[in-house]
Amino acid sequence: METTAGAVRANPDKYLALLVYGGGNKIKEENPNLTSDIKDFLRGLTIAGNERIRVVDPPKRDTDKRGEFAKPHILLLHHGSPELRAYLLWYQTFAFQTEGRKIAFSALRFDANVRPWFITDIVGRAVSDDPEAIQEGLTTITSALAKDTDFRNHVDACLAKVENSRSIDERVQDTLKSFEIHSMRVTNREKKEITIWQLFADPIANNGLEFKEWLRIITSRRYIIDEIDEMFIRSKNLKPYDPCAFCKSEIHPEEQCPFPLVADWKGPIPREVRAERARAKEEAAARDRTRE
Ligand SMILES: [Zn+2]
Repeated sequence: METTAGAVRANPDKYLALLVYGGGNKIKEENPNLTSDIKDFLRGLTIAGNERIRVVDPPKRDTDKRGEFAKPHILLLHHGSPELRAYLLWYQTFAFQTEGRKIAFSALRFDANVRPWFITDIVGRAVSDDPEAIQEGLTTITSALAKDTDFRNHVDACLAKVENSRSIDERVQDTLKSFEIHSMRVTNREKKEITIWQLFADPIANNGLEFKEWLRIITSRRYIIDEIDEMFIRSKNLKPYDPCAFCKSEIHPEEQCPFPLVADWKGPIPREVRAERARAKEEAAARDRTRE
């Protein structure tokens, strides 16, 4: 993986990432010809200069991880012509069927400077879809951060690298302007419908380390709306729902994945994939029992 990552980092424009919908170990096991299926599909698009394309499954970094959706999730497209790359990036998501198997993938550019706006999920008694409550939650967060020394120094240090000098207060105020809260109904880990908030902001980080620090500062402190209502930051393993294993988005559970909701979606449907895998597992168990 290191050498592959190094090759991509050295020439990010020569590669595209193909994020396979539902990608991970299991999909490769179920589709042993995944890379050639995708390559054939791309060739079938008959776009100039796609004769030489290669679809590469990058070697695993960690062979111990054996979960159904274990990394790596992406395939690499190499030798795509500028026309093919432009086409793929424009349409972005593709779904096709081959021999009854459904395959879908998204094409993404390798861009080391793109960082997510998503910061964290928030739960708590005050969390509801009432716009006034949302506004109150947002004000609580932004006014707490405006006074937070770590946050202020971090914003100042990040922005000082890329802009002309101005006061810390101006930088902090500007940064906080991009903060937004969206409420969402999700199916939580206990399979109950709940409302959560999601905090987004334009990331000011210039690199991965600064982005990590940005997330750490914002998510490691307390936010108290009033004497009885605290908002609880839920990131990583405290997340109220399992993030989508199918499109790898951190901001929705797979039940709410937007991809299968697209009209005429030809790719895999999480519910059906899960049911099919459960059935295969049961059959295998039944076979083992009769063998005993
Ligand atoms: Zn999804």
